[in-house]
Amino acid sequence: MYKLETHLHTIHNSHCGKREPADIARDYAKAGYDGIVVTNHFNRTDLFGYVAQQFGDRHNVMSDYMRDYYELKVECSKFGIDVFLGLESAPDFCTYYKYAPPYGEILVYGITPQTLLRYGYDILNFADQEEYYEWAEEQGCLLVVAHPFRKICTQLDYRYLHGIEIANLHPHQNSYNERAERLCDELGLIPTGGSDYHEKGGEGGGIILKRAPADEKDLVAILRSRDYEVIKHR
Ligand SMILES: [Zn+2]
Ligand SMILES: [Zn+2]
Repeated sequence: MYKLETHLHTIHNSHCGKREPADIARDYAKAGYDGIVVTNHFNRTDLFGYVAQQFGDRHNVMSDYMRDYYELKVECSKFGIDVFLGLESAPDFCTYYKYAPPYGEILVYGITPQTLLRYGYDILNFADQEEYYEWAEEQGCLLVVAHPFRKICTQLDYRYLHGIEIANLHPHQNSYNERAERLCDELGLIPTGGSDYHEKGGEGGGIILKRAPADEKDLVAILRSRDYEVIKHR
């Protein structure tokens, strides 16, 4: 049994993230997790309005985006917890920070630091979901829509998504998980679940695997196999 967090935010990537990597490592050790996928918000507003301003350099924003991920790797290794890279992305075509829909956030699994450095700007600039999906297929990444029935979200095109987050356990948001699960069943997409951790006490969600993923790509293989369980309640 391998308990994996699939949806987590840290303090230096967006206003909503409240906790330092060292504290997160302790929280997750205490809660019995074996691994964490770090999925900080990846959109132009948070990248250039928060990450870049904090670190004072717009030119290294992609590597600055990964600072907390690398720090989490160090802190979590003290407890034997694996750390994988992921994104909670909103390219320009679906970001909340514009005047018209679509609005949504797409979790990305299977992305590596090298891939992000190379394609980070392309992700922001993809014209539509179809372009994003083609890129993900080429790169061996999975696109999973996060909490699709939250009030702020509009429905994206499910032809260009691999999966649906059917159990988002954020304690202060109604994610209408039952609707997401029903839709995922109907469409036959890959189901995931995660805490949407932003602060102390936010942990509790995720998926239970039969073995440890070796790396980001192996995690994709496990998700594709669907041989795991989604934690549906904290
Ligand atoms: Zn957030
Ligand atoms: Zn989130």
